[in-house]
Amino acid sequence: MIGGVRDSWNRSVQRAEQLAAEHEATRPLLVFYAQLLGLQRESYDTLRNVHLSGSLERDLKAVRPCASKILNGVSAIGPPLIIEEITELVAEGEPAIDQMLLDWWRTLAANQFFPKVILQPYAQRLTELSRRPVDRELYVTDYRCPFCAGPPQLSMLQGGGELEGGGRALLCATCLTTWPFRRVRCASCGEENERRLAYFHSPAFDHLRVDACDTCRRYLKTVDLTRLGIAVPLVDEVAGAPLDVWARENGYEKIELNLVGL
Ligand SMILES: [Zn+2]
Ligand SMILES: [Zn+2]
Repeated sequence: MIGGVRDSWNRSVQRAEQLAAEHEATRPLLVFYAQLLGLQRESYDTLRNVHLSGSLERDLKAVRPCASKILNGVSAIGPPLIIEEITELVAEGEPAIDQMLLDWWRTLAANQFFPKVILQPYAQRLTELSRRPVDRELYVTDYRCPFCAGPPQLSMLQGGGELEGGGRALLCATCLTTWPFRRVRCASCGEENERRLAYFHSPAFDHLRVDACDTCRRYLKTVDLTRLGIAVPLVDEVAGAPLDVWARENGYEKIELNLVGL
């Protein structure tokens, strides 16, 4: 990643703040997301200064303080429902939080807000150390992250049609690794029949589109960096929330929800 991982957290926070200032309709989502990214950046900074083994069970000692900081932080800014869940989780105590993190880490089950927000910086730090997760099975397919076997959060177009994947890449929802992926292909079931693949684009978001599949009825959003080079895919994906509404109304289910729950 250009400029290193630390810079990528900074760029994400700044982009979320910038988009929050520009887009009134999605401002509350983007303000919340900017704050989440700030908390995650703090976790990342903490994890940079400790030894990590790649076994979450052994690394829990280092991850726990990050988890409680994030839970505290989110309970100060989150919507009431999330605050309620944090209160319950904290009341159950440390073993319950450990178990939640370990369960998710072993399965990467879709759409789990707390373990995902807590473990994204950990997973990303592991990628930086080239230390692959060692305490779980990694079923890597080409629609799964080559580093951690996580599902994709989004797809992106980077130009350079001569590159592998025709300039398209998927971005991992867990460790934020990117990997090349064929342009005309469903990122959930691998469908390649163009007539089964639908695209939805709105003039309001020139650099975003929905890539949906009529075979498995799943979708994700694509961020086109050839149209807007300053976009930060993880953040611009969140800003395109109205496209998620369109996709849901048309009966498509997202492969993996983002951290604002869309
Ligand atoms: Zn990954
Ligand atoms: Zn599909």
